[in-house]
Amino acid sequence: MRLRHIPGSEEAIALSPYVVQEPEKQKGCWHNLFGNANPIAIEVGMGKGRFIMELAKENPDWNYIGIERYSSVLLRGLEKRKELELTNIWFLCIDAKNLADSFAGGEVKRIYLNFSDPWPKDRHAKRRLTSPDFLKVYDQILAGDGRLEFKTDNQGLFAYSMEAIPAAGWKILEHTDDLHHSPMARGNVMTEYEEKFSAQGNPIYKLIAGR
Ligand code: SAM
Repeated sequence: MRLRHIPGSEEAIALSPYVVQEPEKQKGCWHNLFGNANPIAIEVGMGKGRFIMELAKENPDWNYIGIERYSSVLLRGLEKRKELELTNIWFLCIDAKNLADSFAGGEVKRIYLNFSDPWPKDRHAKRRLTSPDFLKVYDQILAGDGRLEFKTDNQGLFAYSMEAIPAAGWKILEHTDDLHHSPMARGNVMTEYEEKFSAQGNPIYKLIAGR
């Protein structure tokens, strides 16, 4: 997501009542923070967070954690958060490569990746959120019956992911090349990027994977 750096965003994030400041301390005990034993879903690279906040509104029996590495981007999401009365969502300003520092094995039931940066150059392939190193991290924190759900409008990144995910030992359980005209559209919640790209006429790709 292209966004200029907002001066003071790190300080604002550090003071935000909606952001967990030392997520490593919650490792293995996120349920205490939420105050219930509901399943936990995370969105990696949430951008401005509309998707995960909508899910939190729709599903009070789930707990949600939005993850975004850039403070300036997260700050924009937090503006929206202030308007909502929710008790089932927190935010982290961390890089996804460090997720296993903050979540214990099996602590997460669902991982959403939405419109992840495509990093089309081969030399940047390691930065793709469906690359083998990231899949290893998700494998560490996702429950045995947990699911990874990935949406994108980028054909190249989708084709790459359809190969990289099974190559890492995962199973593709469902997939579509045109989400909005497929049975997988039922209950679909649009992200900011999804709305923009589908308005331009781009098909949206989606896959669901498990191990
Ligand atoms: N998911 C949102 C949507 O669909 O509207 C935002 C998509 S935006 C293209 C991708 C976001 O992922 C950016 O905000 C970027 O900063 C974040 N991101 C990329 N790599 C990340 C990483 N390793 N850890 C955490 N966030 C990351």
